[in-house]
Formats: sequence, structure tokens, C-alpha cells
Amino acid sequence: TLASPAHGPDEQLRISFEFFPPKSPDMEDQLWQTVDDLSDWNPDFVSVTYGAGGTTKAPTFAAVERLISVNGLPTASHLTCVDADKAETHKVIEDLRALGVRHIVALRGDPAAGIGTAYAPHPNGYANAAELVVGLKEIGGFEISVSAYPEKHPESADVARDIEMLKRKADAGADRALTQFFFDNDVFERYMDQVRAAGVKIPVIPGIMPIQNLTQLKRFASRCGSSVPSFLDARFAGYDDKPEDRAKVAADVAAEQIEDLRRRGIHDIHLYTMNRSALVSAVLEKVGKVKVKRAQAGAAA
Ligand code: FAD
Repeated sequence: TLASPAHGPDEQLRISFEFFPPKSPDMEDQLWQTVDDLSDWNPDFVSVTYGAGGTTKAPTFAAVERLISVNGLPTASHLTCVDADKAETHKVIEDLRALGVRHIVALRGDPAAGIGTAYAPHPNGYANAAELVVGLKEIGGFEISVSAYPEKHPESADVARDIEMLKRKADAGADRALTQFFFDNDVFERYMDQVRAAGVKIPVIPGIMPIQNLTQLKRFASRCGSSVPSFLDARFAGYDDKPEDRAKVAADVAAEQIEDLRRRGIHDIHLYTMNRSALVSAVLEKVGKVKVKRAQAGAAA
């Protein structure tokens, strides 16, 4: 079993939501509607991605600030160290602290030229996420999450190499890892056996991607190193022109994956929302998560 000894089998499912910073006014409206729709699911925390090299710095800052001050949600900001020297990274960290951020998802990030291009560390920067975690611990005052790759990172020679990096990040003081999305829970369970055998003790929280669009997902997944098992083609076959049926299948698929993880003793999941609420809410309803009405920050409790 994957269960942590502290957690019993009937424990309530704990969730976190990942959002990305909006790129247009329409996307901005969509994000805030999504946040409103999803807040009552009572996430342990929400997180906002950060464009590698600082490309989304302003919209990431704006989103985390509003999530904290208006929505009153425990909010993590992602942070990458690629293409930045340490002074620039430290400035971003202090800016995040000033916005009220106390939880950082510490990442290396991909080179500006895109996923798959050769990575070269900045000569005066943090070379990888493990070094960034060391820097963050020295600075102090932040909870730290890091990435994990059950199917290995595309640049890693093998899973063992990948777990070496995860161990470095955990040893440096990371509090938890959030995984890249995957669809085969057996792969995750085998990965976790190797992670624990390597002496990594921090929680590793599965990243679940509800499938909004299988064709788009396949394109994206191949770049992230996530495999899309053929059973998904079969599940979605014939629904290309039937969005309502497709949404039902998508909710079933993600709910079944989560229920299977729960049977294996997992009680925490990280949901990639793609800034859309309907499918995520459908999934959480199916797995029996209970909504709790949240007071907005500043409102009377
Ligand atoms: P690291 O932890 O430093 O390394 C990851 C793996 O890559 C290691 O296992 C290591 O073995 C291997 N590796 C790293 N460098 C090399 C190398 N030079 N040669 C060989 N192998 C190497 N990206 C963003 O831009 N913004 C985000 O907000 C963001 N959020 C993410 C959230 C999660 C939960 C995950 C899983 C990924 C996220 N990413 C994000 C993607 C991430 O930035 C990329 O996958 C990036 O390529 C690696 O960053 P990392 O922090 O995982 O790297």
C-alpha cells in the first residue's frame, strides 16, 4: 500500500488546485469564475504557475495577490530559476513574500527556447530545483513544494536518476512533491516503491489531469514525458462531436483514477484545473468530496 501510516483508510480526500496566470481579459474572467466555483471544495492550497524565465511574472503576482487578499485561499506561487541569476531570483522571492506568499513550488523551469531544447544553467543562477530549495531554505520563511516525475523527466536518463534529483530536493528541505500528471496508477505505485527505497520520505502528491480534450492532451503530454494509455482512446471513442458525453467520460475517468488511488491509500491529490471548474467539480462530486462554504477574506466568519 502507498498509505502513510498516519492516515487511515476512511480519511477525507484532501485536494489542491493548480491555476495558470491569465493571458487576456477573457481568460482573466474565466480564472476568477473558476476560483469562485471551486473555492467551496475547500482546497488545502491552490497554486499559480510561473512562466519560466519570469515571462508571466506580472500576471502570476497579480493572481496570487488576489487569491490571498480577496479569496482568502492558502496560495502557493510557482517559481522557476532558469534564465535568472540569483539576485533576480531573490528579488522575486522577496516580492512574493511581500504579497503574502508563504508557500513556493520551487522549479528549475524549461529554457526560453522551449521544452526539448538543451538546458544550460545561468552562470550566476541556481542550476536546478535542488539548488533553488537550498537557497529558499537559507532565505527562510517558506513552505516548499517541488516537482516529481513518475514516468521520469524527459531529460533524465532513467527513473533512478530522476529520483536522485527528488532526493536532493527532499534532503535540501522540500516539504512535499507534486507529480507531473499520469494516468496509470500502477506506474505511480512502482515509482513510489523506488522513491521510498531511495530514502525519500516527504509526501509525494499525485497530480491528476482531468481530460478536457484528449487530442490536445496527447500533444502536451508527449512534451512533458507523460504517457497517454490506449484505454483512454477507447473510453473517448465516438464522442468527438458530443461534448456533453465527452465531459461525462472525462469525469468518470478522473474519478476512477482517484478512487483507485484512494484504495491504494492515497488521501491527497493535486488537480490540474486548466482554469476551468465544471469538469473538476464533476470529478469531486463523483468521488464524494464534501463542499464547505468558505467565507471570503475580510468577511465576518
Ligand atoms: P529539476 O527538479 O531540477 O529536475 C527535474 C528532473 O530533470 C530531474 O530528475 C533531473 O534528473 C532532470 N534534469 C534536470 N536537469 C537536467 C540536465 N541538465 N540533464 C539531465 N537531466 C536533468 N514549469 C514552469 O515553467 N512553470 C511552472 O509553474 C511549472 N510548474 C510545474 C509544476 C509541477 C508540479 C511540475 C511537475 C512541473 C512544473 N513545471 C513548470 C515544469 C518544469 O519546470 C519542467 O519540467 C522543467 O523541465 C524541470 O523543472 P524541475 O523543477 O522539475 O527540475
